[in-house]
Order: sequence, then C-alpha cells, then structure tokens
Amino acid sequence: MTAHQRSALSATLLYLVLSVIWLQLAGYLLSSFFDQSADRLRWQLINGYAWVLVSAGLIFLAWMRRARSSGNEAPNADRERLRQAAAVFDCTREGVLVTDCNGLIVHVNRAFMTITGYVRDEVLGQRPSLFKSGRHGPDFYRAMFASLGSAGQWSGEIWNRRKSGEIYPQWQTIRAIHDDGGQVSHYVAVFSDISAIKHSEHELAHLAHHDPLTGLPNRLLFSDRAEQALASAQSHKRGCALLLVDLDHFKNINDSLGHTVGDELLKSVAERFRELFAPGVTLARLGGDEFAVLVENCSQPGQAAVLAQRILDALKAPLRLDGHALFINASIGISLFPGDARSAGQLLRNADSALFKAKSAGRDGYALYTEELTAHAQQRVEIAFELRQALQQQELRVHYQPVHDLATSRLIGVEALVRWEHPTRGLVSPAEFIPIAERTGLIAQIDAWVMDQACRQMCQWQEAGVALSFVAVNVSSRLFAHRELYDQVARVLHDTGLDPACLELEVTESAVMEDPEVALEQMHRLRELGVRLAIDDFGTGYSSLLRLKRLPVQKLKIDQGFVAGLPWDEDDAAIVRVIIALARSMGMQVHAEGIEQREQAAFLLEQACELGQGYWFGRPVPAQQLDWEHAPAVI
Ligand code: C2E
Ligand code: MG
Ligand code: MG
Repeated sequence: MTAHQRSALSATLLYLVLSVIWLQLAGYLLSSFFDQSADRLRWQLINGYAWVLVSAGLIFLAWMRRARSSGNEAPNADRERLRQAAAVFDCTREGVLVTDCNGLIVHVNRAFMTITGYVRDEVLGQRPSLFKSGRHGPDFYRAMFASLGSAGQWSGEIWNRRKSGEIYPQWQTIRAIHDDGGQVSHYVAVFSDISAIKHSEHELAHLAHHDPLTGLPNRLLFSDRAEQALASAQSHKRGCALLLVDLDHFKNINDSLGHTVGDELLKSVAERFRELFAPGVTLARLGGDEFAVLVENCSQPGQAAVLAQRILDALKAPLRLDGHALFINASIGISLFPGDARSAGQLLRNADSALFKAKSAGRDGYALYTEELTAHAQQRVEIAFELRQALQQQELRVHYQPVHDLATSRLIGVEALVRWEHPTRGLVSPAEFIPIAERTGLIAQIDAWVMDQACRQMCQWQEAGVALSFVAVNVSSRLFAHRELYDQVARVLHDTGLDPACLELEVTESAVMEDPEVALEQMHRLRELGVRLAIDDFGTGYSSLLRLKRLPVQKLKIDQGFVAGLPWDEDDAAIVRVIIALARSMGMQVHAEGIEQREQAAFLLEQACELGQGYWFGRPVPAQQLDWEHAPAVI
C-alpha cells in the first residue's frame, strides 16, 4: 500500500469514528434534553445538517492541506530535474544552444564554447545568424524554418563559422519548445562538429581517385573528367585532345636499379609533366609508366603535336635521383575529339592505338591516330585471340632456312623460323604475329615450342647422318632477360639429348643493349650450358663497342638491311666492311643474312665474311624439303 493510500484509509476511518461518536453523543444528548418526540425529531434533523456542515468543512480543510503539500512538492522536483538537465547539458559532447521565441540566445553549454570558440557572454542575447558561414543560400534557411514551423523540428548538415573565422560542418537538430498555451517559447539546437568525419571522407575520396605515388588523378578520375570535358566540348562546339604518354624501357630501370629508384623516377617525371601544363589540362597516371594528358580547347592535330613535342623535350634533360643521372624517353599516342572519337572510352582506345604506332616506329616520338590504326588494332585483338587457339590446335610450323659456308658453299647450319598455318589466311609470317605474341605474353610458349621442335629435328638429322654444325633458334627480346630462359634451354637439351654445341641462340642486338648488365649475366649462364650465342640483326641497335667486347658471343649476324645494297651502295659496303673487321677483331664469326644475289655473296666472301643465308641459297622450308645437295658456288 502506498503512502497516499494509507493516509486516505486513515482519513476514512477517522471520519467513520467521528461520525459514530457524533451520532451517539447527539442521540444521547437529544434523548436526555427532549421528552417530546416532535422536538427531538426536529433537533435530530438540525443535528444531521450540522454534521453535514462539519463534514463539508473537514473535506474542505483536507483538500486545502493536500493542495498545499503538493504545491510544496512540485518546485522541489522541478528543481531536481533542472539540475539534472543542466548537468547533461554541460557534460554532453554535443553543442547545445537555446534561444527564446524571438531567436535571441538565452543559453549555451560548455561543448558549444569548445566547438565554436565563443564564451557564453559573447553570445547571450545574440542571434544564431552570428555563426553563418555564408555557404548556404537563403533557400536553405527558408526550408529550415519551414520545417521548424510545420514539424516543430529540423535536422541536417550545416556549415557554420567558428570565432576564429574557420568554417566547419556540423550535424544539427533544432526543436521548437512550446509553453502550456501551445505557443513557441524556445528553440533548442543540438549539434556536433563533423569536420573530422568530413576530412576522412575527403581523404577516402582522394585515395579512390588519385595515384598515391605521384598524387596525380588516377584512371577512374581521368575517365570521369574526360567524360565531363567531352560533354562540355560538345555543347560549346570545341575540340579536345588526349595524349597517352608511355615511358620507353621503364621496365629496365625497375629491373636494374630497383623499384625504389623506379618509383622515384615516376615521381620526378610526374613533376616535370606538372610544370609543363597550365590549368585546363588534366594530367593523370593511368598505371605503371603510362600517363595521360587531356587538353581542352585543342582541336587541331598540329596543336596536339606541338604539345607532344614539348613533353618529349621536357624529358631530354637527365633526371637526378639517388646519385644517378637517369635518361628516359617516352612515346606518345594522340587522339582528337570529335575528329577521331565521340566518347571518352573511344578516345582512350584510339590514343592507345596511336601509342602502339609510336612505339613500333622506334619510340621517343609521337603518333597521331588514324582510322586505319583502329583496323590494325582490331586485327591485333583478333590475331591475339586466334593465336592462343593456334597453339592448342597445333597450327604453328617450323621452317628451316639453310646457312652456307661462303668459302666452300657447303650447307653447314639452319635457322629455325616459325610460321602459322592459318586455316583461312594460309601461311602467316612471324613478322605479323610475333609482335602480338610478345605483347600478350604468348611468346614464351611459342619460343619454347620452336626450340623444342628445332632440337628434336636436329637430333633426327644427326641420326640420319646429315652433317650439320648447328640449328639456330630466335629468342624474343621479351624473354631474354628472364631467368626462365636458362631453365627452359637446359630442359630442352636434357629432354632431347642434343649436344648443346649444336644449338645456337639468336638474340637481337636491341635486346642485348636494352639492359647490357642483365644480358651479360644471362649470356654467361647460357654459355655454361654449352650453347652458342649469336647477335641477330646486328648494326641496327647502336651497340656500344665496349659492351660488345665483353659479351660471350660467338657470332654477329649482319642485318639484311645492309646486305640489300651490296655491293653497289657505298654506305652499306662501308658498314659491312666495318662490321666484319669488328667481329674478326673480337674473335667472332660473321654471318650475313638476306643474301638474294650472287654479287652480294661474292662481295661478302671477298670481305672475309664466313657464313651466308638468304633466298639466293634457299628460302625457309619445312624440314623434309631442305635440299642437302644444293650448294650454289659463290665464285
Ligand atoms: P630474323 O631472325 O632476322 O630472320 C630472318 C628473316 O629474314 C626471316 O624472316 C627470313 O625468312 C628472312 N629472310 C631470309 N633470307 C632472306 C632474303 O634473302 N631476303 C629477304 N627479304 N628476307 C630473307 P621471317 O621468317 O619472316 O622472320 C622474321 C623475323 O621473325 C625473324 O627475323 C625473327 O626475328 C622473327 N622470328 C621468326 N621465327 C621466330 C621464332 O621462332 N621466335 C622468335 N622470337 N622470333 C622469330
Ligand atoms: Mg634470326
Ligand atoms: Mg635477322
């Protein structure tokens, strides 16, 4: 039973007892004073009324007492509640601001002062517009007051200004407080400073859209900007140019000097590019050593070409990193909007085709996109797809081209040259598919297969009593620097049982000179296996003679480009003479390829070139069609 119930019960009992006593006493007194029952009856009635009056008085007093005591209790509870609320106000990390119905500040808490930098006295009596950042227009505040008016509250993100002048975002809830009459008496705003959250959001967005190494926009952001730029160019009837820049032989730097230097180089290159461009040009790193430049308001190929040349020139001065002075070139592919492409994706693809053309044309240059490049690019994609199947369906063939001793005309070796027997296109030249195989990585399988076939064929010839000194196999420059090459050669020799001295590996001069240190190491390892090494297409790769001297190579193959002009072209004749003298001075054999006429062979023999290969001796043919007897006499 509660205290209230208990006091109600005792009041009822008291009333009962008093009523009984009153009635008993009144009955006794009336019967002793009055004999006449009529009188007694009247006084009993009077007595009844008197008791009703007394009861009513008692009830009135009880109510009065109750009202007074509950009147005393209320202020106490309210005071307690207010104390609690004040404590919460002061402890909470959220800023609290209370205004009266006229919008004048009447209360702020401690967190408010921490967040805004204002002290209480500076803001009391002021309006919250004191904190306006200027970031929101009148519409924003109009919507806020409309929501306060209709729903009694508003919450949302709002930018305000601290006392220091700094503007910052806060998450704020404002609520209207009504009095007993239903009129707005106050507004309470509770807010938290969300600048830290905003900052992390911003950092995340930056990370998602920028390359962490160079700080440049990444592919995602670049594509986005390109799309916006094209849309704007379209509506303003202007043009845009996209330049795709790829560093030449960047991989060599990574391989030889390490990834740290590689990274530093990329940063320095990005820095150089940054200095080149004014606002309105978007520079991005799309990945690896590939950069992209989007130039708005550039519709003429000539303008884009000038820019490309500026990029190439900017790389001419050495980059100084970590004590090294490094030189790096680049190749650039250019595609224009709206002439070459209508979308950002197409523009990028076309620039990529043009880049491929620039690379194929000898690097350190730029190329403009043309429509036939798309056809080529499409063809390359198709060939890459079909080539994969060709390997599985055994459509590749090895042909052998005879190599003759120029002095005796004797056939002393063969070069294995791969062909693709395409089901519809017939015999496809390696010149067409080897570059694609190199780009797609299929070259490793192709070269391994050719080497295996050539070694097996050589064993068969030896078993059949054919006296050949060597079979030469081409090794792609893409594979030459790899460790796997050594394992692969060792495996093939082991599997086929071929005498290593009968296997000659041809590697192009440019592959050796791309990274001479790695090449040197690889060559020494291969020599340990006992195989012979030849430098193919010699004369086209700007070899350093000093480096050449250090290479454990047994043969130089003079590039057919120099043989073609023999014996009448004086330049070719002079170059060939020098190459032969050079090779002999270094104790290497000289082998001329591309001999198509007897005069060429005769000239070469006269210059003491030892070996010759070319259509005049014999074309590359399947193994069974090699003519062992045919030995055209040079003299
Ligand atoms: P290469 O190694 O310099 O091969 C010589 C090329 O010259 C061959 O072209 C050959 O058919 C051609 N040739 C030979 N004699 C004459 C001549 O008298 N006149 C003319 N105009 N050409 C002649 P092919 O077979 O088309 O091979 C082209 C290139 O493809 C080769 O040049 C070689 O770099 C590459 N290649 C061929 N087979 C393979 C292979 O199995 N693996 C790799 N990685 N590359 C290969
Ligand atoms: Mg060759
Ligand atoms: Mg060659």
